[in-house]
Amino acid sequence: MALDPLNAARWRIDRVPVAAWAAGATAVLAAIFAFTTSASAALLMILAAAACFWAAREARRFIIAPRSESAELLGLGALAPLLEALPDPALLIDAEARIVGSNAAARRQMQFEARGQFLTSILRHPDVLEAVQAAMREGETRAVEYETSTQVERHTRCYVAPVTWGADRAAMLVFHDQTARISTERMRADFLANASHELRTPLASLTLLIETIGGNARDNPVDRDRFLAMMQVQADRMRRLIDDLLSLSRIELDEHVPPSDRADLAAVAREVLDALGTVAKEREVSLRLIAPRGLVSVVGERFQLAQVVQNLVDNAVKYTPPGGEVVVEVGAAGDREEAAALAGRRWDEAGRIALLTPAAAANLSYSFVRVEDAGPGIAKRFLPRLAQRFFRVERELGNQRGGTGLGLAIVKHIVNRHRGGFLVESQPGRGSAFAAYVESAGED
Ligand code: ADP
Repeated sequence: MALDPLNAARWRIDRVPVAAWAAGATAVLAAIFAFTTSASAALLMILAAAACFWAAREARRFIIAPRSESAELLGLGALAPLLEALPDPALLIDAEARIVGSNAAARRQMQFEARGQFLTSILRHPDVLEAVQAAMREGETRAVEYETSTQVERHTRCYVAPVTWGADRAAMLVFHDQTARISTERMRADFLANASHELRTPLASLTLLIETIGGNARDNPVDRDRFLAMMQVQADRMRRLIDDLLSLSRIELDEHVPPSDRADLAAVAREVLDALGTVAKEREVSLRLIAPRGLVSVVGERFQLAQVVQNLVDNAVKYTPPGGEVVVEVGAAGDREEAAALAGRRWDEAGRIALLTPAAAANLSYSFVRVEDAGPGIAKRFLPRLAQRFFRVERELGNQRGGTGLGLAIVKHIVNRHRGGFLVESQPGRGSAFAAYVESAGED
């Protein structure tokens, strides 16, 4: 096997101490032999032997030992600053599939504890593991795309490349988050399909009304006014649909980025009730707020939390008959099980369902808002479909009246962005209660 020049030089240096020891030993033997003829020659040889032994020792100390240390330093560990400079999570995997290097982005996102951990303990996707094998064995570079879904679906493209460093073989993995790009693409497709479908109904009505006004009703002012009023209703419906669809797509755009602001849930509820006071009065529905005296501080975006409360109170007022009452309650609860029980399990005979449950997390406590109405209630079979886009109980029952069917979907997406929970309990004849809970902010 041909040695490269660097390795050949090392091979020779490695032999320096051995040669010096041999020379020293030969000189000692020669000195013993020379002692019989010339004492001074023997003395000179003893000095030569001492010089050889000293050379051997120094060679080991100054040439061989430091080199093995620097070999260690120049091993895979030397790539650490390079990894650290990458903005995307990156890992260095050795031939035994152990993590021997990582950057801060990887440690933060993948939450692993120590160097030396096996790659499979944090990532099990078969295509990635196969790409790592291919990089190690065949020196192949691959890009693998995969999905993971905890609470939010994530799309990642992982680049796997071989790294050869001296005698070490490794694979470098760089993870590139594709979630935003893919969800934007999907949203655009969904938006077009849903919006065009939903807008077609009011548009068809508008077209028909325009034809009627232009034809038979042209010379009849009473009919004309009536049809114009009907056109206004259809135009309002189209506007509401567009507003809600845009609102939903805006929320979805940054759903994978949880908010870090703080908000007072009680203040948010108070403001929403103030704003909806007039509408409730017109419908002869009274509004009542139950909230603790102090702040109910949560981790969340104030504007989005107000959207949650507003959508829920809007519905509650819409479905409560005149003379009825809508009760909004805000409070702090414990962990996610306690929050779900306190906010959503109050009526013994009600049907109930969790429309969204946060991932289990130790040491998190939640605060909730519960909106209870005295409306007709919702049959059990409809509960699981409540937060689906465009789902309306009225339509299922053959009644075209009702809103856009987007309000609860908006609530669910906002709560999901907040990594919180959303649930409903409802009892036909008694009413419905919708509750959302998000992480409490604690004292700071
Ligand atoms: P919208 O109210 O605009 O139709 P939502 O997404 O807010 O859309 O609600 C979806 C459906 O859920 C409604 O159409 C209605 O059938 C039902 N719903 C929502 N809230 C209530 C409630 N408080 N009481 C009875 N039914 C409700």
